[in-house]
Amino acid sequence: MKIIAEKILKEHKLRNTPIRIAVLSYFKESNSALSHANLEQYFNNQFDRVTLYRTINSFIENGILHKVLDDSGSAKYAVCNDDHCEVHQHNDNHVHFKCTICSKIECLHHAQIPKVKVPMGYTINAANLLLEGICSKCNN
Ligand SMILES: [Zn+2]
Ligand SMILES: [Zn+2]
Ligand SMILES: [Zn+2]
Repeated sequence: MKIIAEKILKEHKLRNTPIRIAVLSYFKESNSALSHANLEQYFNNQFDRVTLYRTINSFIENGILHKVLDDSGSAKYAVCNDDHCEVHQHNDNHVHFKCTICSKIECLHHAQIPKVKVPMGYTINAANLLLEGICSKCNN
C-alpha cells in the first residue's frame, strides 16, 4: 500500500511526507469511506488532529480524496478513482454503497449516478447518491 500511496502522491505532484503516505495507505487498505474520527482513532498517538485535518484538506484540494455524504451526519472521505480528479476539479460521479451489516461505505466506481432531469432554470453542480443494502462480503 505504501508504494501505491507514493505513486498517487507523485501523480498529483504532492511531496511524499510520512503522514501523507500513512494516511493514504490507510485509506487504500480499508477500501471504504473514513471519517475524521476513524483516522484519529487509528493514528492515535502518531499524528495530532490538526495535522490530520490539514492532510485530508490538501488531499481534497488535490483531487485525491472526495467527500462522501452519509446519513450519520459525520463527514466521510474516500479515495478518488485513478486520474479522474485533478486540483480543484473533482469528477466523481459514482454511487456510494452503505452496508447495513458491516456499516462500511464503499465507492462503486463503475456505477454512475443516473442523469436527472430538472425543471428549466435549475443548474446541477453536484450529485450524491447513497445506496443502502448488503455488501458482497456480508452477502457471502
Ligand atoms: Zn475526486
Ligand atoms: Zn458489509
Ligand atoms: Zn466515492
